[in-house]
Amino acid sequence: MAGIYIHIPFCRKACNYCDFHFSTSLRYRDDYVEALLREIDIRLQHWSQQSFNTLYFGGGTPSQLLPKHLSSIFKQLQHHIDLPQMEEITFEVNPDDITPEYLDFLSNLGINRLSIGIQSFRDEDLQQMNRAHNAREAEAALHTAFAAGFQRLSADLIYGIPGLSDQAWLDNLNRAADAGINHLSCYALTVEQGTPLAKQIRERRYEAPSEEQAAKQFAVLQNWASEKGFEHYEISNLARHGARAVHNSSYWKGSAYLGLGASAHGFSDMERYSNVANNQRYIRALQEGHPEQMTEKLSPENRYNELILTGLRTSDGLSLESFGELGEPYSEMWLSSWERSPHREIIARKSNSFVLKAEHWFQADGIAADFFII
Ligand code: SF4
Repeated sequence: MAGIYIHIPFCRKACNYCDFHFSTSLRYRDDYVEALLREIDIRLQHWSQQSFNTLYFGGGTPSQLLPKHLSSIFKQLQHHIDLPQMEEITFEVNPDDITPEYLDFLSNLGINRLSIGIQSFRDEDLQQMNRAHNAREAEAALHTAFAAGFQRLSADLIYGIPGLSDQAWLDNLNRAADAGINHLSCYALTVEQGTPLAKQIRERRYEAPSEEQAAKQFAVLQNWASEKGFEHYEISNLARHGARAVHNSSYWKGSAYLGLGASAHGFSDMERYSNVANNQRYIRALQEGHPEQMTEKLSPENRYNELILTGLRTSDGLSLESFGELGEPYSEMWLSSWERSPHREIIARKSNSFVLKAEHWFQADGIAADFFII
């Protein structure tokens, strides 16, 4: 089974830490949706033998689309795939776009999971990050989503924000849990090159986030999760029983996925493509009849490294079977490097899986890199 990811590159405001592909101008929104409809046709004709079980609208901010845009996208998808059979259809929304009418519309389309960009329940954090919503709207968004009948709700939260105390971080987590959320995606604030946040720090107008604070608040998150009955199933993701994100989990398992929209990536058969990350070029290319993309053929070594990186970030761990597509030498290579590694004691073998002990999760990427074939 494969997943479909659709990128909607429009946002109301530019958050100061964000380096995703988006535009705050809606000038090309109609043309973008037209181009997306063409890409859906082209790519799904190529992938006609593939079964899909998840659909994910990410961004940008998908809730910047109007009902007329979404109706045409769903109609086009329905020409190729059986949408009512989809196990999970997720839609990212920002609190400032949430109204009961909009959510009713999403629900009637068959969207059965919302991912809400809360980030913090504190006005000072939201203002500093230049988010388009305030704390009151963040809280109200969760209640409106439940009232609209969505049971599968995820909230994004950010930790390691300068000025966010451990207690304030705990309060944010509790507010999400108390509202009834059954899934959380929690990320450390990171400074990406070229963002307004990087500029503020460079010009000494804002404090750089501290690694030490982030590590401490990650530990707060781990303790909180076990006390509250959330399963911490991937470094950045926590779920109540049965509420794991199916779409994102398939990335970590190495399944195929189709990416649609400007800057979206797709992957299958050791090949990855990425669409141009520019709305006007994306639109023009599809008006001319084909997507503008880069294609990368992954070497077995690249794929081996990726499987280790993603596997060691999950509570299910890295499974020997995941090397199956690369052939036996790679699972043997992993086994012999693990047996000889100084990290052997902190990566537990559970049958055919290798699980990094929870107390080392914050350093998971660095530990994984020590196993890479360079
Ligand atoms: S709403 Fe999301 S995608 Fe848009 S600027 Fe903010 S963080 Fe980035």
